[in-house]
This record gives sequence, structure tokens and C-alpha cells, in this order.
Amino acid sequence: MDELRDDQKNNDFRVPPNLSDYEKTRSEFRWEDIHEELDFLPGGGLNLAYEAIDRHLKTDKKDKVALIWDGKGKVEEKYTFADLSLLTNQFANVLNSLGVSKGDRVFTYLDRVPELYISIIGIVKAGAVVGPLFSAFGTEAIKDRLLDSGAKVLVTCPELLHNVDAVKADLPALEKIIVVNKHNVPYTPKENEISYEQAMSEASTEYEICQTTKEDYSIMHYTSGTTGKPKGAAHVHEAIVGHYATAKYVLDLHADDIYWCTADPGWVTGTSYGIFGPWSNGVTQLVSEQGFVVSHWYDLITKYRVTVWYTAPTAIRMLMKYGEKEVKKHDLSSLRYINSVGEPLNPEAVTWSKDVFGIAFHDNWWQTETGCIQIANYPIQDIKPGSMGRPFPGVTAAIMNDDFSQAMPCGEEGHLCLKYPWPSMFRTYWNKKELYDSRFKNGWYITGDKARQDADGYFHFVGRADDVINVAGHLVGPFEVESALVEHPAVAEAGVIGVPDPLRMEVVKAFVSLRDGFEASPHLKLEIKKFVTEKLDANSAPKDIEILPTLPKTRSGKIMRRLLKARELGLPEGDTSTLEE
Ligand code: AMP
Repeated sequence: MDELRDDQKNNDFRVPPNLSDYEKTRSEFRWEDIHEELDFLPGGGLNLAYEAIDRHLKTDKKDKVALIWDGKGKVEEKYTFADLSLLTNQFANVLNSLGVSKGDRVFTYLDRVPELYISIIGIVKAGAVVGPLFSAFGTEAIKDRLLDSGAKVLVTCPELLHNVDAVKADLPALEKIIVVNKHNVPYTPKENEISYEQAMSEASTEYEICQTTKEDYSIMHYTSGTTGKPKGAAHVHEAIVGHYATAKYVLDLHADDIYWCTADPGWVTGTSYGIFGPWSNGVTQLVSEQGFVVSHWYDLITKYRVTVWYTAPTAIRMLMKYGEKEVKKHDLSSLRYINSVGEPLNPEAVTWSKDVFGIAFHDNWWQTETGCIQIANYPIQDIKPGSMGRPFPGVTAAIMNDDFSQAMPCGEEGHLCLKYPWPSMFRTYWNKKELYDSRFKNGWYITGDKARQDADGYFHFVGRADDVINVAGHLVGPFEVESALVEHPAVAEAGVIGVPDPLRMEVVKAFVSLRDGFEASPHLKLEIKKFVTEKLDANSAPKDIEILPTLPKTRSGKIMRRLLKARELGLPEGDTSTLEE
């Protein structure tokens, strides 16, 4: 059991942050009380950006550092809440001058530079719906998302413009491209391109935040499913209630913390807990432009005296690979609370962190659709290694049977479901209302995960109920990869599955058959992998490609992924009566 800190013993929180009396906390918890801890817009509306930044201007947090940016090449920048308020005002003015109004979709496609954070907040201030795209996405990945959302403006950088240029003819709704030239590369704006630096220099720092209501859309993140293209899970401004409360009580953020979330804003963790959760709590956060480099990560914790750290199992397993020797080279004594999300956290990782850091990783569970953490191991309770923890107060989770009519007996596997509504839940899949509706049954939201609950009420992850592949915490849709594969001139048909991987949880394996005239060769496989990386991203690219004369299909011509997986893993093949002769 971790020790109580003084400020936890004598806290003035309405919900006891230690959750040590879990049942009592659950019975007393009301989301309405959390609403009261927020400020609301001067006109009475609710806006994510106001809660994250501008409300602190009325307090002593005004001149507090909100963002410490660790740029590549040892560059550092710091921004206070007041700085971010002015800069995001300017950006909102830039957007309005381009004709952006409430409800328009404005997407970002940038590396983790301060301007990404400024853009996201500025977009939300303008009342537009922000869609952050992962900067490692390739052409097809950005096209699908920009097309489906009907994005009107895209914020990107010269280094990524070639991908945008390759697809912009297919994006009739895309009117303007704002180009952030952080690294001063030679660049001249083309038609419909606007220099961020130029536009910002001309924009006023005064801005009246759009009067959004709690039910207006604020942010959307695309997520992959078994079938079809990625779906845009759209959230509303009320999501801030969940971001704020869980950042405070699950991540245990306090005013004096230096917090580091390693996730990119291209994924939901990078916005809910890399922007809105910490900033609505007025906490200083670190952002590193650099990806995972073990010594650099430890250097950052040492240099900035990081106290709370939120990362993911694949990164933790990589740190474990480098071992204690690397840890010993650094002073990591500032760390007081560490969290993990995105994939199951192995019990060994919990024990290892306790041994080498003196504190253990706390696993928590949630997903793009839920908007904020739903199930967690809490600061002051015993961690159950291998378990995702217990539901956040205000959240009811259950393990349901196959038709979602009954809860499964304790200890038995079933569908992980959540009672709805809760403030940060998604309100639709963009343009896919029917699919959205299909995720709700008998008063439950169906998460798509399989899990079990033990006698102490802790939830244990079992696997996905569908064919979605979890590569290092990022969901990969097999259909998207199959669609990319069959666009390669050599590929006739493709079936994609996830196979277990000791480091990255799962990796993509593709089975393909070739068109006439193409011969299997290591070179061809490499070329196909590169092709998928350029279209989608590195996580989606098959680690292994097996070339077969033909793929197993149902009589209606559907490739049987289930059979490919069973054969690959040496599992029983199950019912093959629909298999094509
Ligand atoms: P995403 O919507 O991309 O954030 O992915 C959410 C999915 O990641 C969940 O539905 C789970 O399948 C998986 N996931 C997230 N957190 C955990 C966790 N703590 N343990 C196991 N799986 C997790």
C-alpha cells in the first residue's frame, strides 16, 4: 500500500482523492458536484478551451507555466496560462478571418510542437470541432479522416505537405491549409495555403470565446473497427467534466505537479490527458517533441523533476528491456505517481517499477469513445497487478452475457459494458449514427472488449470481442490494412490478423495472394510493407506477410480472418461449414 501524502490526509476535496473507502465514495459521488468545480463561460456556456486555459487567468495560476516544450535539438520553450490564452485567442481570430464558424471541422496534422497545442485550443475557442491527426499518418489515413469529417481547414507543416498535396484533390470540403513552419524550412505558400506565422502576427490577441453549450461538439478522434473505414468518435464540451475529474482523482494531479503524458494528441490520451485534463486542473505539463528514446525519457524526468507520469505498456516493456542499469544513471526521485493505459499492463511491469522506481505503475482502462478513464487502480489502494482496477465513482461497469441481457457470474468472462450516460461519452460516430446506436443495448454501452470481474470488484482484460488489433496501444482496423494492401499492384486479395508480440502486445500479420505475373520474393514483401506504411502508418504495416496461393473464404466470398488466425496460432478451427469448397 502506498503512503498517504500530507496533502492527501488534509485535503479539501469533495471526493476523497484516496478513494480508500471505495464504496462510500461511490455512493456519495455526483457528476453535478464536479460541474460545480468548473467555471463556465461568462455568458453561461461551457467550452473546453475556457476551462483548460482562460479560467486560470482570474487566479494566481495566470503566470504559472502551463507548457514546457522540449524540442528536438535541445530547444526549450515555456508558456504560461496567460501566454497560451493570448496565442489561442490569436489563432481563433485567424480561423474566423478564414470563415470558420461554430461546428466547422478544423483538423491538425502536426508533430508535437507548441503550435499544435495552440491550434487545438484556438480551434475549440472558435467553436469549431477539432480533429487531431497523428503526424505519422500516411496519405490514405489522412484522406479517409478529412473526407469523412468534411474538414474545412487543416493545420499542418511544410514537412508533411507532400502527403496533403497527394490527396487534396479528393477533398472538396477542404478550403484552406494553414502551414506552421516551426523549423524554418524553405517554403513558399501555394494557392489556399496560409503561413501560420504571418497570420498570427496580424491577428488580435483579444477574443470572445464562442458561446458553446455542453452538448455542442468539441473534438473528434478517429478509431478503428473490424469493418469499414475508421470512425470519427465525436465528443462534446461536457467531456471536460470527465477530463477534469479523472485527471484529478485517478492521475492524482495537484497544483505543484510537473506532469508528463507521453501520448501524442493524435490519439485520445494525448488530448484528454495531454491537454484538457491537466490544464483544467491548472497543472504544468511537459511535452517532448521527440519519440521514445530511453535515455532521453529518463533525462527529461530528471531535468524537469517530473512528478506524475502517464505512459503505456509498450513503452514500459521497452524500459524494462534496457533494465535497471539505465535507471540507475538518472535521478528519478521526483516521481511520485505513475500510470499506464492502452493495453494490458503485465504484472511483471508493476513489480519491476516498484523495484526500480520505488513506486508502481497504476493501470487504468478507457477508450476513444468513453472520452475519459472509466476503470482504474487508484492512488491509495492496493494495486492488483494484472488488473485494470475498479470503476471510477460515477461509472458503472459490468460483464454482460452475449445478448447483453444479464451480468455474468463473478469471475466469468463476458462483454465489458458501461451504464450510460456519463459526461465525457462520445455522442456519435460522425456520419454513422446507426453504427453508434448499435453500440448501445439494454441500457449498456458495449465497449467491444472482453473482460471478467473478480470477487473484489476488480476488472481483468481478456481481449477484444472483434478483430481489431492493438499494436502498442494503437487500434488497427484489419479492413483498413486489407484495403491498403489490395491497392498494391501485386496483391490480389488480403486477409489481416493480429498476432501476439512480446513487446508491442500485437503486431499485424497479412496473408495475401498475388496477381498473375507477380512472384513471391523477400523484396516484394518489403515493398508491400513500405507501401502500407506510406498509405497508413508504421503500426498498421504488416510485420509479417505470408503469401498463399489463395485465401480461405466463405461461400459468399468473405475472407475468413478467424480461420487464418486459428491456423496461425494453432487453435481449433471451429465451424468451417461456410468455408468455400
Ligand atoms: P483506443 O480507443 O484507441 O484508446 O483503444 C481502446 C482500447 O485499448 C480498449 O477498448 C482496450 O481494448 C484497449 N485498452 C485500453 N486500456 C487498456 C488497459 N488498461 N488494459 C487492457 N486493454 C486496454
